[in-house]
Amino acid sequence: MGTKRVAVITGSGQGIGKGIAQRLAKDGFAVVLSDRDEKVLQATVQEFKSQNIEVASFIGDVSRQEDQTALVQAAVDHFGSINVFINNAGIEQVAPIANIKPAELEKLFQVNVFGVVYGIQAAAAQMQKQGTGGKIINACSIAGHQAFTMLAAYSATKFAVRAFTQAAAQEYAKDKITCNAYCPGIVGTGMWERIDAGMVEYMGLKKGEAFEKFAEGIALGRTQEPADVANFVSYLASPDSDYMTGQSVMIDGGIVYN
Ligand code: NAD
Repeated sequence: MGTKRVAVITGSGQGIGKGIAQRLAKDGFAVVLSDRDEKVLQATVQEFKSQNIEVASFIGDVSRQEDQTALVQAAVDHFGSINVFINNAGIEQVAPIANIKPAELEKLFQVNVFGVVYGIQAAAAQMQKQGTGGKIINACSIAGHQAFTMLAAYSATKFAVRAFTQAAAQEYAKDKITCNAYCPGIVGTGMWERIDAGMVEYMGLKKGEAFEKFAEGIALGRTQEPADVANFVSYLASPDSDYMTGQSVMIDGGIVYN
């Protein structure tokens, strides 16, 4: 086993996952990046290597149980053990309920919910084997506390993430494995570009208007950066959060308060 703590982050080729990986590397973790998009993954790995970050990578699809198991194995093969596993990968869908297609609904749940379940299973099994405890951290959302129009299916997947976060916390507490989730608000990533495009299509808005409309409701007066999310995930990955488990916490600049 190496001396560095090891964090595995899914969907870390870009966006929030990349921001989290950068922050955890700064905190002293060796990081294992994983994404289904090989091109963005390799570009980010190169960027990290050029900054002398201790990094390994794995191309995988979180909705395939065997990929999640193989990701954990690859991390262990490379660094000897894992301490933190972050189920960050997720996809969105913009549609009124009347237009939700079965295949799209299935895909959304396969990635956002099944993927999180497979990630929890693979990470917890390894942490149990190590006997070291560990931290499992899931990407939830403000939409996991309050459903939004045009994002009904997406919101439902994030409600499910909150449920698995609570149940995993209870089931794995005996192994000193905690499970918590971060709930971002409006982060200007590729995901929000696509949500904006989808809302434009259905609501007759101009490009960028949906993003602006949502941003108007933020108490702190600005949309967020991946680093805003990563600051909180840094805490969840650190010993300072050892007594916290089963929580899905808003980090949204003030949008949703329940
Ligand atoms: P993004 O689309 O910018 O990046 C997501 C990354 O995940 C991409 O690199 C993509 O290739 C990868 N990915 C997608 N499906 C995958 C799969 N099946 N297997 C492996 N990798 C996969 O998204 P983001 O904005 O960075 O979002 C990250 C997480 O944060 C998601 O779970 C999202 O639901 C959540 N979130 C985002 C926002 C926001 O405003 N952007 C708000 C709340 C929650």
